[in-house]
Amino acid sequence: MQFTIQVSVKDDFGETTIEDIISLDKVPDNPDDIGLSLMESKSLLKSLQNLMVSHQAELYTKTHLNCPHCQKKRRIKGHYGIHYRTLFGIVPLSSLRVYNCDCKVIPAKTTSLLTDWIPDHNSPELQYIETKWASLMAYGLTSNLLKDILPVGTALNASTVRNHLHKVAKRQENDLEGKPEYISGCAYEWGNLPKPGKPITVGIDGGYVRNWYEKKTNFEVVAGKSFSKEKAPKRFGFVQKIDDHPRKKLMSMLSDQGMQNNQQITFLSDGADNLRDLQFMMYPESLHILDWFHVTMRFTVLNQFAKGMKKSDPKDGAMIFKDLESAKWYLWHGNVQESLEKIGECCDVCYDDELHYENRKKFYKHLSEMYTYIENNQPMIPNYGERYRYDEIISTAFVESTINEVVAKRMVKKQQMQWSHKGAHYLLQTRTAVLNGDLKNIFSGWYPGLKIEGQAEKQYIPDLNLAA
Ligand SMILES: [Zn+2]
Repeated sequence: MQFTIQVSVKDDFGETTIEDIISLDKVPDNPDDIGLSLMESKSLLKSLQNLMVSHQAELYTKTHLNCPHCQKKRRIKGHYGIHYRTLFGIVPLSSLRVYNCDCKVIPAKTTSLLTDWIPDHNSPELQYIETKWASLMAYGLTSNLLKDILPVGTALNASTVRNHLHKVAKRQENDLEGKPEYISGCAYEWGNLPKPGKPITVGIDGGYVRNWYEKKTNFEVVAGKSFSKEKAPKRFGFVQKIDDHPRKKLMSMLSDQGMQNNQQITFLSDGADNLRDLQFMMYPESLHILDWFHVTMRFTVLNQFAKGMKKSDPKDGAMIFKDLESAKWYLWHGNVQESLEKIGECCDVCYDDELHYENRKKFYKHLSEMYTYIENNQPMIPNYGERYRYDEIISTAFVESTINEVVAKRMVKKQQMQWSHKGAHYLLQTRTAVLNGDLKNIFSGWYPGLKIEGQAEKQYIPDLNLAA
């Protein structure tokens, strides 16, 4: 049995042509080959795309041959080949080059007609899908999956997908140019604004990825998430070394969440020196709090040491265990001095080399680090207990850590994953856009004519008369 698929093309001048695009032979008795196969569907889509784009290009060329200013016919210089890359194959096109008319002063002598029409040789939809998928999974996996199901072309590979994603990320970054870095207006003007909602909380966290250039080293990436009662959380991420506008990024994200100029922001972080500086730099006027989640994590580590010590030295072990509990309790109530005193006592006990505990030195190191950590972050330690009673936020780790969601899941899953500073930074831009559900809007803004996902399904109503 032979199936021939034909396309009827009606151009803007009302002329209709019918063209065969593919013929498929099916052996009726073969139960393994019923209906359209994936390979056939790929050929079908490729042929159809080829036909459609070629016709559109031809029409475009026909209707743009004349000078756009005086309508005089332009002289042809020649043809040159371009390749238009789409989800349904690479379409070879012949672009007409014409001499520019002398009715207007244009620096270039000639114009390539199709380059005006498709300045980027990658279709927006291809870029959208590549970016979306590669933000969620590895570049190689993205290209393999696309090749599995679509006739994207065998030349597609991890590095082409990565290059395309980088281009999208750069464009996102360019969009931030000209956006405000600071809240506009002054305190007097803010006073006239409606009463703002609850403070917006921004959690900020640092993580590490492997350095591609210096294989044995890591570098830091920063990820953050904003929470507000009314809107879905939004994430942001960057590599500090690369990013020129972390503050713009934060401001733009917060205004997307409906932040009012007179609204308070509560920053939560784990208080690492560089992060603390960064968050103060981003938004000095806000409330900065040491994330209780990170505090308890550190206490958990110390408690494990104390437990180990109890086994070899029950008396001192039990004492340290109790002191750590008090230190945590004091901290919960914002009594930093008392808490430090208790940790200091633990340090004193551990300092004694008569102590029977094999991990004594390690424990001592952790305890003194905890002392410094609390001391350095003192200005960020509130009365957690009181905040908790008043239903005010004290921790970001309700669901999962931001760094895990934004960075680790995509960038450190496999040991061999290595990154350049730029590469990591660009991926963080598209990845946060995807996780925030913003990529679609970003593309719709850049390409207003693009029918993307759900929108396209709703808009497309088949013309039933055509089938009749
Ligand atoms: Zn002209």
